[in-house]
Amino acid sequence: MKFGSMIKDVLSSLFKRPATEKYPAERRPAPPRLRGKLVWNPEKCTGCQLCVKDCPANAIELITIDKVAKRFVMKYHIGRCTFCDQCVVNCRFKCLDLSSEEWELAALSAEPLTVYYGRDEDIRFLLEKAALPGAEETPCEPS
Ligand code: SF4
Ligand code: SF4
Repeated sequence: MKFGSMIKDVLSSLFKRPATEKYPAERRPAPPRLRGKLVWNPEKCTGCQLCVKDCPANAIELITIDKVAKRFVMKYHIGRCTFCDQCVVNCRFKCLDLSSEEWELAALSAEPLTVYYGRDEDIRFLLEKAALPGAEETPCEPS
């Protein structure tokens, strides 16, 4: 680029509004079709594991505590999710959705990027089992 044309661009930029937005001080509403954090409705889930098998990023684990009582815990790895929507489309019971409201997912450590969904007592049960010596990453076998 020639110096003359560069100066022209610099001078014209002085009188233009900035193209950037003052995020996060100013926020625009997210588009309704934005694909943010995966959300799960355990009430309708049958534990079929289709979402787990279909996820190309290995971002979901569905841990069965009691299949008859429909006690499942979903472990969602946000850092692995590519927000492809495949699990949402393929769930026959419409249990999954990608939220257009929860999309600010950056974190300074890995810990907030792993999310457990399910009943509080089931998540507690799972985490207590996982904390036992010799426990594997996924402490419950599907029943
Ligand atoms: S595909 Fe749907 S019903 Fe099957 S385990 Fe996943 S969330 Fe549950
Ligand atoms: S949106 Fe795609 S990558 Fe994310 S959990 Fe669903 S299938 Fe996996």
